[in-house]
Amino acid sequence: MQGVFDVAIVGAGAAGLTAALELTNAGRSVVILEARERAGGRAHTFIALGEIPLDAGCGWVHSVDRNVLVPLIEDAGLALEKSAANWGRQSGDQGFSAAEQKAFAEAYEAFDARLAAAALKNVDAPASDFFEPGDRWNGLIDAVSSYYNGAEYDRVSVLDYAAYVDTGMNWRLKQGYGAAVAALTASVAPRFSCAVTAIDHRSAPVRLETEQGPLAARTVIITVPTNLLAKERIVFSPALPDKIEAAARLPLGRAEKAFFYLDKPEELPVEGHFFGRIDRAATGSYHTRPFGRPYLEAYLGGRNAEDLIREGKGALTAFALDELSELLGSSFRRRAQPLAETEWGRDRWALGAYSHALPGHAAARGALAAPVAERLFFAGEATHPFFFSTVHGAWESGLRAAHEVLAVLPAPIL
Ligand SMILES: Cc1cc2nc3c(=O)[nH]c(=O)nc-3n(C[C@H](O)[C@H](O)[C@H](O)COP(=O)(O)OP(=O)(O)OC[C@H]3O[C@@H](n4cnc5c(N)ncnc54)[C@H](O)[C@@H]3O)c2cc1C
Repeated sequence: MQGVFDVAIVGAGAAGLTAALELTNAGRSVVILEARERAGGRAHTFIALGEIPLDAGCGWVHSVDRNVLVPLIEDAGLALEKSAANWGRQSGDQGFSAAEQKAFAEAYEAFDARLAAAALKNVDAPASDFFEPGDRWNGLIDAVSSYYNGAEYDRVSVLDYAAYVDTGMNWRLKQGYGAAVAALTASVAPRFSCAVTAIDHRSAPVRLETEQGPLAARTVIITVPTNLLAKERIVFSPALPDKIEAAARLPLGRAEKAFFYLDKPEELPVEGHFFGRIDRAATGSYHTRPFGRPYLEAYLGGRNAEDLIREGKGALTAFALDELSELLGSSFRRRAQPLAETEWGRDRWALGAYSHALPGHAAARGALAAPVAERLFFAGEATHPFFFSTVHGAWESGLRAAHEVLAVLPAPIL
């Protein structure tokens, strides 16, 4: 066993990395333990064909006017693409006429207003209870929920959905959001391939079992995704049933991406967008030529993504190609070269994409975030009261946990 650290941080995603920066800057001794062989967690950019940065996880810098990362990104001189998001539109009105798009937007707005009214009355029912029965747009509204929440509305708490703050201003980064998180936290040196398997917090210091042996710390910040906490992949002594239950009530939904290199890209619009179908929830959202680059990004969520991941490798790609060929013509298949597909739903260290609260359980975020006996602290996107499911939410949660730790750890003697 090595010496006793002031803080052990479990997980080197956005939350863990920023907590490590904050605590190191405050002069505390920190060890950051990461199960993967890389940092960033669900913020991860990879390079396709030697030159195209693609975000496997987060890609959009949401709510930029309130996003804690935006000034940091700007100070670091990273290039922000500020053009408006295209999600609601159907390029060329392909299979979705202008009149239908208007009707859909109105139906969504009315649905959102019913949810807001229910939330004001503190009704924590499934959001799908507020669908207009038999409305033609319910399927597409659920499709959007599958991207936005990672789950269809029958699995989403009205109160949690209403608590989420979305200012509607979204930007992107030319080199990738994952790459930006990596650049902003480059000075943090996690221990990789070092999964934590057990945390014994019966007495001070806390003892952690890791893949690389035991270590001890005065305090621990736990940032691992809720699906792993709920499955008790880390064994706590004494047990923490309240935390396990809170995590189970905040499951990570499903969102997956597939990328295609485009031959003759000029035949598709720059920054274009298509829904695959407008009559069902199981459909993709397709973004053509992001940043003017010759590729297409397919986004699939909810049960559809869950089923496709269960089917196995290639199923996501095949689904997207089928929908796009139907929409854009059969020649599309010959022009689209599959580049990559994600599998967050099967990823051992995530088991999903981002958290939503189950109906009736909006209070679970606060329960998960609460510290245990001045020794264990919890961060990660799922613990944020209103920016959950995002990178800026994870980042802010890491700062919050770091300050909770600083409040209980005596300042170092200089
Ligand atoms: C497909 C997809 C699209 C998304 N799009 C956006 C978007 O456009 N904008 C946005 O803001 N957000 C988006 N998100 C969400 C965003 O990526 C996450 O909310 C954020 O990155 C979560 O950060 P975190 O630190 O809370 O968790 P993570 O990034 O999951 O970090 C937790 C870390 O803990 C590690 N770990 C797990 N178990 C252990 C263990 N036992 N021991 C040690 N380490 C462990 C994991 O490997 C991981 O590195 C998206 C996510 C996905 C998957």
